[in-house]
Amino acid sequence: MADAAIRISSMDKYFGNFHVLKNIGLQVDKGERIVICGPSGSGKSTLIRCINRLEEHQRGTINVLGTQLDDDLSHIDRIRREVGMVFQHFNLFPHLTVLENLTLAPMLVRKTPRAEAEEKAMAYLERVRIPEKAGDYPGELSGGQQQRVAIARALCMEPEVMLFDEPTSALDPEMINEVLEVMRELAEGGMTMLCATHEMGFARQVADRVVFMSDGEIVEQAPPAEFFDAPKHDRTRAFLEKIL
Ligand code: ADP
Ligand code: MG
Repeated sequence: MADAAIRISSMDKYFGNFHVLKNIGLQVDKGERIVICGPSGSGKSTLIRCINRLEEHQRGTINVLGTQLDDDLSHIDRIRREVGMVFQHFNLFPHLTVLENLTLAPMLVRKTPRAEAEEKAMAYLERVRIPEKAGDYPGELSGGQQQRVAIARALCMEPEVMLFDEPTSALDPEMINEVLEVMRELAEGGMTMLCATHEMGFARQVADRVVFMSDGEIVEQAPPAEFFDAPKHDRTRAFLEKIL
């Protein structure tokens, strides 16, 4: 229990009367890599967004790095500082350069001095292999480059946990690999990762556990070999037949 990065129990979420997440139980240990898959509309994004309170849950508990997610704003702030998020549509600030995108939160939230924030930003841009784009605006970059900037931006806050919501779904096929490669390296470096994706090759290679969601429920979770080769539930089998 002590090593849990994320612990979700008996969690329910509603949008109005719509019961979108049903009795969710999920534990992610420190250093674990979890892939969430499931049909469109099954609740993957909503679950991920609940973990840093972009959405509010109504029942059950979510504990992130020992802090309970409740109405206490200081708890929410603490969790958001430690949890990085990468979205399907990059969500970079279009009117800021790449470098400014990377230094904004460290300077504002962590009060890092500019020179130090810029030095760190350049180091992360090296890691995602686009230091030469530091002075460009997001609109001047390809989708794959923008998503790598988004990953570098999250890393600049030195998060303990990274959440990814279909980070390659909006990319042209030839750009998917450059983003997955950066994510693979992050996983090898020991980052705790929770990633919704349809990239089943990535899941097989990188995930410690694959979580399958359908209709707001976690139907099944297992290590990738077991998940792909011996899925237990009909809904999992039906999903895998469609996408593999
Ligand atoms: P996934 O990421 O697996 O495709 P989502 O979490 O985006 O699924 O959505 C789960 C369900 O919740 C869908 O039926 C979706 O239409 C609905 N939903 C998502 N966001 C909202 C919202 N803000 N208000 C109402 N319904 C929503
Ligand atoms: Mg989604």
